[in-house]
Amino acid sequence: MMNRSLCICLLLSAAPAHAQAQKAEPPSPPKIAMPDFSKVEIKTHKVAGSVSMLEGAGGNIGVSAGDDGLFVIDDQFAPLAPKIKAALAQISKKPLRFVFNTHWHGDHTGGNQPLAEAGALIVAHDNVRKRMSVDQFIEAVSMKVPAAPPRALPVVTFSEEVTFHLNGDEIHVFHVPNAHTDGDAIIHFRKANVLHAGDTFINGAYPVIDYSTGGSVDGYIAAQEKMLATVDDSTKIIPGHGPLGDKAALKTAHDMLVKVRDKIAKLAAQKKTLAEVKAAKPTAEFDAEWSKGFIQPDILVEMVYRSLSPGKAARGGSKGRAK
Ligand SMILES: [Zn+2]
Repeated sequence: MMNRSLCICLLLSAAPAHAQAQKAEPPSPPKIAMPDFSKVEIKTHKVAGSVSMLEGAGGNIGVSAGDDGLFVIDDQFAPLAPKIKAALAQISKKPLRFVFNTHWHGDHTGGNQPLAEAGALIVAHDNVRKRMSVDQFIEAVSMKVPAAPPRALPVVTFSEEVTFHLNGDEIHVFHVPNAHTDGDAIIHFRKANVLHAGDTFINGAYPVIDYSTGGSVDGYIAAQEKMLATVDDSTKIIPGHGPLGDKAALKTAHDMLVKVRDKIAKLAAQKKTLAEVKAAKPTAEFDAEWSKGFIQPDILVEMVYRSLSPGKAARGGSKGRAK
């Protein structure tokens, strides 16, 4: 039961926002810290149009409220469900219609069961239901995650894209393959001009690439490029973790990861071992700014190295691209 709600992504938000970059021993395996849920406060931020963002512990929640009811993106942890429901009631008295999960991790799906029991229809990518249905193991942090209870599983799933016509908006959802996991979805509110990126965008901290459940650095970068092509300069972007962002913030995160990937791919192409790549400190120029969250440089290096596509590693990054 305890483990059910644990997720590596939680630790991004559990870390102090402006903590000093620790020069401590390599976090292997990283410490798992659970927040004291009784002390967590759910903060509501108006984003644009019908869309708000809720911050608490775990992934940022997106909410569309209007005449048709509430459409909610992600739901953090089960113990926070009463507080999340109270925050939703402050936004609108209309019924809770849908909960959409951006991916399977427990800090984004932990509230599924209580919200389903409150009337929500749970929707997600096909692979979210598949992964939540059976035990999982997140290798990067040596974490076992037990199967979710049946009531927590998505009832409606999709493979490529789906559109919700609600609250005067067109809510277009598209799958991005093998990015943070193998079941990531991006939600685009076309009228409100808001994008919810799930964990394919962490604003201001190193990302998690959960390669053991289908994530990959190249897919992660491709997802960010697809989002960059979808938004404009005035789009508000809700990241999986971190403060509300925009196109410029997403571009900054993307450019950092491309540089890190290319350096690691070059070393991999030289047949360097993981230990040798870590020792070369390929993230050094970014560490002071980007290692404020849970993901420390060595973990990022390992996730990138282990998830490099074989062709990319052989060619040494984007400079060696044939096309
Ligand atoms: Zn995640």
